[in-house]
Amino acid sequence: MTTWNEYAEEHGTLPEWPYPIRYEMESEIAADVLIVGGGVAGCHAAISAARQGAKVVLAETGNAKRSGAGGAGVDHWHGACTNPCSQVTPLAYTQACMDSAHGYTNGIVRYIVCNESWDTLLECEAMGVQIRDVHDEFKGADFRDEATKLMFAYDYQNRHVIRVWGFDIKPRLYSEMERLGVQICNRTVVTSLLTDGGRQGGRVVGATGINMRTGEFYVFKAKATIIASGGAGRLFSFAPEMTAAGTMSNMNAAGTGHAIGWNAGAEFVLMEQTGPGVLAGFGYAPYSMGNCHNTYHGVSIVDADGKEVPWFDKFGRQLQSVEERFLPGPGQPFHLGPGIGIAGYLPQYHVNDLTADLAQRIRNGEFKLPLYADLTRLSELERKCIWGMMVGNEGKTRIPIYDTLGRGGFDPNKDMLQAPVMAPENYDVSCFWVGARMPTVRSMGAGGFLVDWDLRTSLEGLYAAGTSPVFGAGCHGESHTMGRYAARKAAAYARTRPHAPIDRRQVEAQKALAYRPLRQSKQGVGWKELNAAVARVMSDYCGRYKNEVTLNRGLSLLRELKENEGAAAYAANPHELGRTLECFSLISVGEMVLQASLARKCSSAHLDFSRLDYPQMDPVEWQKLLPIRQEEGRVAVRELPLDFHLRAPYAATYEENYRRVAAASAGRS
Ligand SMILES: Cc1cc2nc3c(=O)[nH]c(=O)nc-3n(C[C@H](O)[C@H](O)[C@H](O)COP(=O)(O)OP(=O)(O)OC[C@H]3O[C@@H](n4cnc5c(N)ncnc54)[C@H](O)[C@@H]3O)c2cc1C
Repeated sequence: MTTWNEYAEEHGTLPEWPYPIRYEMESEIAADVLIVGGGVAGCHAAISAARQGAKVVLAETGNAKRSGAGGAGVDHWHGACTNPCSQVTPLAYTQACMDSAHGYTNGIVRYIVCNESWDTLLECEAMGVQIRDVHDEFKGADFRDEATKLMFAYDYQNRHVIRVWGFDIKPRLYSEMERLGVQICNRTVVTSLLTDGGRQGGRVVGATGINMRTGEFYVFKAKATIIASGGAGRLFSFAPEMTAAGTMSNMNAAGTGHAIGWNAGAEFVLMEQTGPGVLAGFGYAPYSMGNCHNTYHGVSIVDADGKEVPWFDKFGRQLQSVEERFLPGPGQPFHLGPGIGIAGYLPQYHVNDLTADLAQRIRNGEFKLPLYADLTRLSELERKCIWGMMVGNEGKTRIPIYDTLGRGGFDPNKDMLQAPVMAPENYDVSCFWVGARMPTVRSMGAGGFLVDWDLRTSLEGLYAAGTSPVFGAGCHGESHTMGRYAARKAAAYARTRPHAPIDRRQVEAQKALAYRPLRQSKQGVGWKELNAAVARVMSDYCGRYKNEVTLNRGLSLLRELKENEGAAAYAANPHELGRTLECFSLISVGEMVLQASLARKCSSAHLDFSRLDYPQMDPVEWQKLLPIRQEEGRVAVRELPLDFHLRAPYAATYEENYRRVAAASAGRS
């Protein structure tokens, strides 16, 4: 491989842009169903819609073969409540999620997912993804079912989280999309939604986008559109050199789907919820350091003298054996696995964990740093499953962790993995590789499009799927399942409606905005400066603590950024152009977060939301959703009960709603 320096020395110049430049060239691409974003939600949506007979177009900023948070793999699949071994009903799981989140999550999605996640996983198996221990490598293990050869994580008794060999799940989905004739537009950033008559709040009739290699402008004409574009990982912090390797965050997660929905007039909820920015770019490579969380659940942690840190259940009962770490204790009907987009669980659903006062015990000198993950204290099958099956199929672990450490000589049968050395308070979360907590940096919470039982947004023709676009939802299996479900609904809608005419003025306005950075002076800021400025405004003015003044100041600073530095920002090539346009999306998402934070005039422990000017925590009158939207450019806020999905016009129970709205087309994809 040639380095930049070697190339410059050899040729005396930098390489030219390697793709043909097609600025101002415009192509129209028509679809029954357009999908924005080709992560697992978008790819599964494309497959589902194509199987319904729809003409499908998928636009993806990266390359959908490996793009998105799940692009590098997955090792455990949540919410498979209808698998033959599950002891948890969809209703019990949904209720556990709703209760744990104190109502601030998405009951619609949880219930749909619990009913369809297993079917969705079976579809992945049919595409070639291994979901069973077909080679009998783990025969006899506590976590394996002999009849089905399925393997389970976290809760070996209730068996609703399935361990999968998912390192190749995206390439498998990609092949299936190709087989079904989905038109895949890779390297394309979608920059706006087109609406009926160009009206904010009108039916969504298509979108515009830019090819990030050629600069070509696309006008997508669609009967139905699904937003599956992930979250906004670059909103509160921006450290690209570190982000690539050091965190979970996806560089393409610029909140574009949220922003284009907001500009089109769609309603959003829970945008005010943010959480500690533990995955914001300053930790260690995911899963690289000793820990006992998630993929490593159940691993023994020892201190520098080899003294083992005890495990407890969430009622404070000390566990006596390794086996108990994987079982619910007295008073616990079942455990919910971590990573499903809920900030904390009620004790009766919480997985077992290290002692809650570990930080204090480190301070007292009872445990001496550094700590280590000692896999040798597990049974041979458990050890082989964690180091090999799980680390090896999980996202971002196969090459950087499993292969690299293996080649370096790491042997889990005798070696230990060291945890980072940090201030004691950072050990209160057993996912040690996220590193030291940065109190000023936040990350997005559960905010997203308000959806109905069809996963339709408040705009006709516009659906949402996946982690982040849909409020209160998230994880790998949920994203596939939401995509599969939303696409059935979108395809059914598309069958009933003709294409609507595209409003040319709207296209021209978007085109002018899209190409503006190419026409600016080279002295203008670049996309990285712009992104860093947005992140600074958000972390300063909408951080852990805020009040009316800071929030309004944040809004005016974002406006000034857009009108001054943003308007003069310069892009030298199609890639920089796409990234610059993403920064405008980040500004829009920042405005949404600030507006939603202004609307909630109380503090909330449930939402980790602190208003210094309204310190009262969770007063009853504020326990509600506050949908926000733009109407003729102004922000409108309304109120919605937390259980809106079980009130008129919907039925009063989950079962009845699902039967009415979903079951008619269940299993047809
Ligand atoms: C390292 C890692 C390990 C994980 N492990 C697990 C696990 O074991 N189990 C589990 O349940 N969950 C896991 N997760 C979470 C899970 O992977 C995600 O919840 C899931 O993949 C989200 O999928 P998605 O399709 O909704 O969004 P994303 O994966 O974020 O995909 C969105 C896609 O949209 C594209 N895009 C964005 N904006 C635009 C635009 N404007 N135009 C066109 N395209 C756009 C992006 O490039 C991206 O490809 C893990 C996540 C990571 C990062």
